Amino acid sequence: MRRRCIVHIDIDAFFAAVEELLDPSLKGKPVIVGGLPHERGVASTASYEARKYGVHSGMPLRKAYQLCPNGVFVRGNYQIYSAFSKKLFRVLSRYTPDVEEASLDEAYLDLTRCRPLYSSFFHTIRDIKHKVEKELGLTVSVGVGPNKLLAKLATSKAKPGGLFEVEAGGEEKFLKNLGIASLPGIGPKTQVILRMLNIHKIGDLWGLPRATLRSLFGLNGDELYLQSRGIDSRPLVMTSIPKSVSRETTFLEDIWDRRLLLAHLAYLCDRLTLPLRKAHLFAHIIEVKVRYSDFKTEVRRRLLISPLQEMGKIYRIAQDLFLQLFSSSRLSLRLVGVKASDLVRARPLSLFEPYSERQEKLGFAVDQVRGKYGFGSLLTIRERMLEGLYGFEKERGFVLKTASLTK
Ligand SMILES: [Mg+2]
Repeated sequence: MRRRCIVHIDIDAFFAAVEELLDPSLKGKPVIVGGLPHERGVASTASYEARKYGVHSGMPLRKAYQLCPNGVFVRGNYQIYSAFSKKLFRVLSRYTPDVEEASLDEAYLDLTRCRPLYSSFFHTIRDIKHKVEKELGLTVSVGVGPNKLLAKLATSKAKPGGLFEVEAGGEEKFLKNLGIASLPGIGPKTQVILRMLNIHKIGDLWGLPRATLRSLFGLNGDELYLQSRGIDSRPLVMTSIPKSVSRETTFLEDIWDRRLLLAHLAYLCDRLTLPLRKAHLFAHIIEVKVRYSDFKTEVRRRLLISPLQEMGKIYRIAQDLFLQLFSSSRLSLRLVGVKASDLVRARPLSLFEPYSERQEKLGFAVDQVRGKYGFGSLLTIRERMLEGLYGFEKERGFVLKTASLTK
């Protein structure tokens, strides 16, 4: 089989770099994007200066503040980042149609098909890097390899601002001394188990037979076996991402009861997250729509720096937006709707927090039970208020506490 040529491009410290570009006085300072020090939530990006203090993406803001009290904390502006992102993909699409949008600032290019077009291949890749940097005013790192896994690992090696290629035949040497945490399949729990087995580097994994890995980690063990050897046959995902996913309900009779309205909203959020999970999508914008009994329609939206997929978190935001609209209203409602848009395929950084891993598993488990026994087999406490209205099957009554979903 012909060796593929996959290029991975990633903007360095994206949000922080954009902030520095917009306000050059921030240059050289530890910039942390994601929120103010006392706020809930995590840092979305830390500039390289801030990383020197031990701050990294995914870290709770309060912890970041403890480590780096002199840091410049910025809430961030999703609309601006999104504009830079669009520019990035416009530049990349000039070189090849085979581009996967892995996240706002991260792309895979498959140049295998274009190879005959470009006489000096490495020169072309340099040219892409140069064009992106010139047109965006931001530094990017580029990794080149025979598949997505190795290209991405090459980018980590190239950071910040470099270009690194895993050449044919050089895979083993490249992987051998990398820490196990650099493999995407290795979460915090897996790391703990491997460390107990005295496995710290990818090369250490080679000593474990496939069957042993499988007995330790199930199907993930197989994945690990292949990943540690640099084997990855995943194609680029270029199917277009839907613009948005939305769910809305027009009531048979106008509703005034706030608890019942919130129950409807919870139900809609729940319904909304199923297609997101199925397609591995995360939303940057959550929007709530209400229509009053006089037919006037109002919409509230929130832009999120870190995209979301979990039902509990989306519901919390939707509830907030809904109450802003409804609390000031003197009218009952005839419609409520929720929409997730600006969808991306990347996993949010917070996935590396243990609870997010649990969230994801919980989401998939819920989908499985519902797939088998019907939607009504698992309901949140809020949704239970709606039993009968939506014809949920009643014979099974597992109740899911919303609290455990939102934690
Ligand atoms: Mg980046």
